[in-house]
Amino acid sequence: MGCSQRSVGSLPGVGPKRLTALEAAGVFTVADLLKRVPKRYSDRRSSLPLDPVALKTVVASGNSEVTVEGRLQRVRRIFTRRPGFNLVQGEVIDGDGRTLRCIWFNRPYLAKSVDESKLVLLTGQLRQGRSSIELMNADISDPAAARGIQPQYGSLGGLGDKALRRLMAAALDALGEEPRLIDDPVPPELLSKRGLHPLGQALRELHRPADDTDILDLVNATTTAHQRLIYGELFAMQLEMAKASLAIRGRRKPHRYVIDDRLRATTKAVLPFRLTGAQRRCLGEIVADMNSATPMLRLLQGDVGCGKTIVAAMAALVAVESDLQVAFLSPTEMLAEQLAESLEGLFEGRHEVGLLTSSVEDRLTVSDRLSKGELKLVSGTHALIQDAVGFDRLGLVVIDEQHRFGVKQRLGMAAKGTVPDLLLMTATPIPRSLALAVFGDLSLSTIDELPPGRGIVQTELLEDSQRAEAIRIVQQAVVAGGRAFVVFPRIDNDDAGAASLSEQGVLYRKALGTSVGELTGRTEASERKRLLDDFRGGEISVLLATTVIEVGIDVPEATVIVIEGADRFGLSQLHQLRGRVGRSSRGGRCLAVHSSSCSPETLHRLSDFASTADGFALAELDLKTRGPGNLMGLEQSGFSQWTPARLASAVQWLEAAREDAFAFVEALETTSSTRQRDLGVAKILGMAGG
Ligand code: ADP
Ligand code: MG
Repeated sequence: MGCSQRSVGSLPGVGPKRLTALEAAGVFTVADLLKRVPKRYSDRRSSLPLDPVALKTVVASGNSEVTVEGRLQRVRRIFTRRPGFNLVQGEVIDGDGRTLRCIWFNRPYLAKSVDESKLVLLTGQLRQGRSSIELMNADISDPAAARGIQPQYGSLGGLGDKALRRLMAAALDALGEEPRLIDDPVPPELLSKRGLHPLGQALRELHRPADDTDILDLVNATTTAHQRLIYGELFAMQLEMAKASLAIRGRRKPHRYVIDDRLRATTKAVLPFRLTGAQRRCLGEIVADMNSATPMLRLLQGDVGCGKTIVAAMAALVAVESDLQVAFLSPTEMLAEQLAESLEGLFEGRHEVGLLTSSVEDRLTVSDRLSKGELKLVSGTHALIQDAVGFDRLGLVVIDEQHRFGVKQRLGMAAKGTVPDLLLMTATPIPRSLALAVFGDLSLSTIDELPPGRGIVQTELLEDSQRAEAIRIVQQAVVAGGRAFVVFPRIDNDDAGAASLSEQGVLYRKALGTSVGELTGRTEASERKRLLDDFRGGEISVLLATTVIEVGIDVPEATVIVIEGADRFGLSQLHQLRGRVGRSSRGGRCLAVHSSSCSPETLHRLSDFASTADGFALAELDLKTRGPGNLMGLEQSGFSQWTPARLASAVQWLEAAREDAFAFVEALETTSSTRQRDLGVAKILGMAGG
């Protein structure tokens, strides 16, 4: 055990209370602590002279943070009339007697605690005050300790920045000079191959940057130390992927599909319409995979509404006609129910379709019939993975809206007993630059064409004060025999004042009368089915809903969608919601209702949404403007906490990390048993976590 595996409790200054708080924040060992690298850096290498011209230049350049050096004097509280707000004012004086006014908000203790005889560093923002230039809210530090590039940690386990700096210094001291004292998930031969530092050294460099480090490199996460950490994380992610991929691709399928003229005739009889060229191409790629001796691992992507379901259904037909079973996995019960219904309609009289979700009462009967092979098609939620559902001859697994599932869940299904073919489907394309990292070893089929005769969906932005206009458009659609969705970001009110179904929904109800239904995550399964049937049939013309309708709802009669609180949604999610309409030749309208006080950036995002109909382009935009945390499909990937700067750096390391991880796992494969390989990978993944 390296000394970095010692408890943080062994560090000076960590008593039982701090230990508990740190552990609650996930920091158990000295290594855990050191892995919490600084969030920002403050450049205190040199002081700005208190020369009026120099000060003016800085203020004019908008260059925000500065450090000055001198003694503080005349520090005192200023009384203001605003309750709960207080001001401390003082001035810093340098060796030549030049001064600069300093102001602090809400730090009353300074008036009593400042030692005016001591030389200090002051780091803060310069601004042009009413009568002179002022230094705002300056951090006061000891020149001997703080000179240099100072790391800023924010807070952790209730500890503030200063306490954390002390603690990190103690941890680095405890670690000593030997950089390999921190267990490194990346094997040494890969480090030397890629010219990267050992983990311990990289962490040391980030906690105590050398004085000649380029501050921009620190800010942009492009130092060699950052690169090293980024590579390490990517390597760990890719290891998991390599392991999963080898576990599947390395196996041979026990099952065989019969693809003959009889099947072709059946397909023709079942198809309700002509497939588009893109659909035919994708189906061809899928069937070729199914026909191969190793299991399929394929992602079918295509913008919302392009018709992925029918392609998957035809692949399913190939399986069931060969007497094999097919499982469709959906992220929500509603989607699973819808899918069961459309498959039922498609295969009417030929094959029965079972439904398996937690709301299904005769779950046990369904899973019993699956395990006996009496039922060949099933549509379900992750209840399908969780419950001890066994299959008799599972040939194909289709996972719809796969970005909603984690890697483990996707592969959990594939690991069920036999070796099924796996088809993943998604409507939210991951930006090309990251596809490799997120999807790893998947083969890709893309439907890049919409079914013929689709009308255009027009998108308009409305401020919430213009809601009456949205209501009027919904009314019009209803009178013309159409259907409309009105989506709210939440059911009940919150303090932030976003529109809610319970409050603003009433306005729609008043205007639209009885033909309104309400669908949320709280709606019972039986009620949900009735509502959707009524909506489809026209007994209900308007559905007030939450984002439960976001994925998969397919009602071609729907022509209008109002998105309330549109400023609350990311681009990809808005696009998904919009995809609920325009599923017929009638086209549609999307009305994005947003708060009149939303920020210019939000307005910009909304106008991007209104002017772009291409899901791919919107996903790229989302990544660039809001970072990966908001990108659908990345939540589960390990990237969601990354800053855009880190992510930009990551793209350069992706290929390398991937190549190394796959080679590493393959080498283990040839030298050891599966069990040993799993242990080897588990050990590395364990080390990389935290
Ligand atoms: P998504 O790719 O978003 O899952 P769906 O599979 O739900 O899209 O298909 C959207 C709609 O388009 C459905 O109503 C479906 O019946 C219809 N559709 C799909 N393919 C075609 C086609 N080739 N010709 C006509 N309509 C089609
Ligand atoms: Mg779909």
